[in-house]
Amino acid sequence: MRGNDVLANVVASQTALHEAFGGVVPEQASREHLNVIDQVCQQALATAGVSLAEIDAVAATYGPGLVGALLVGLNYARALAWSRDIPFIPIHHLAGHIAAATSQAPFLCLIASGGHTSLFDVPAWGDYLELGKSRDDAAGEAFDKVARLLGLGYPGGPALSRLATEGEASAYAFTPPLRQQTGFDFSFSGLKTAVATLLRNQPDANPADVAASFEATVVTSLIHVTTRALEKTGRTRLVVAGGVAANRLLRERLEALSAELGIDVSVPALELTTDNGAMIALAAQHHVATAHTPDARTPDARTPNTPDALTIDAAPYLPLQPVKPT
Ligand code: ATP
Ligand code: FE
Repeated sequence: MRGNDVLANVVASQTALHEAFGGVVPEQASREHLNVIDQVCQQALATAGVSLAEIDAVAATYGPGLVGALLVGLNYARALAWSRDIPFIPIHHLAGHIAAATSQAPFLCLIASGGHTSLFDVPAWGDYLELGKSRDDAAGEAFDKVARLLGLGYPGGPALSRLATEGEASAYAFTPPLRQQTGFDFSFSGLKTAVATLLRNQPDANPADVAASFEATVVTSLIHVTTRALEKTGRTRLVVAGGVAANRLLRERLEALSAELGIDVSVPALELTTDNGAMIALAAQHHVATAHTPDARTPDARTPNTPDALTIDAAPYLPLQPVKPT
């Protein structure tokens, strides 16, 4: 990045590798990261037309995620920063997803990705108050699992969504999750089981109809809970981020919601929805611009290479909200 401009966004996809196993094998994923990380960085520099000597800060995510893969990126990035004596900025993975959609707080934020489905009220950049989250599967995880039930391969979300365009969303009336709740939680594993039961009982059910009905149930749930959270918080800006923000039906329904409620809705550009490096750079840029500490347990992003930044641990589980001192 230069200023607010993304000069290059090189993504090394591991889809082919994971497809063979129907999902991510953690050890394989981290080995593959190690194989390609230097090449990806060289390619990004070449695409951007920037030399290593011109880089004045390096950012990487330190969690949450698979620890082996996190360690590869974190260690590469801080070694680079240390060797050049430039700042290293550790970034929360979900802060990256959010930064792909907006830099302007305040807003209500729905993150719907492979590992998370959460609603946050964000009064200021870097200040995240969780209102609710999935009690079981994440939305993207449900897409992937149902896609697998339908024999659509990995990753399932985009394939299932494509198949759904050929089906009838009203063909199967799946029970909407958590209809009675007064909170802002999500749940998708009951729906996944309902699809599995349906496919077992009706083996000749039309897969496109099943896909369309499933997708509509997930999207309706995301929209309903989010709408209630908008009412509760009174926010007039909504940000939706994470891989599922690429979903065509969700984007359509968000546009309708924006018109209906007169609110501003931001989603990332399609190429920034699923994991990518630019979103981490964008988050780092926002943190530096707003002089905000990325996280209560991370060092001040403005201070170059504090011992904390350079020794920070990769964190497989890491809530987005800072832990408040007790
Ligand atoms: P997390 O960000 O929670 O750690 P992750 O990084 O694995 O998880 P992302 O890269 O944000 O997840 O998103 C990947 C998920 O998005 C996958 O589950 C994928 O199926 C889903 N996804 C991608 N495109 C679509 C789509 N068009 N429709 C539905 N789901 C989609
Ligand atoms: Fe992600």
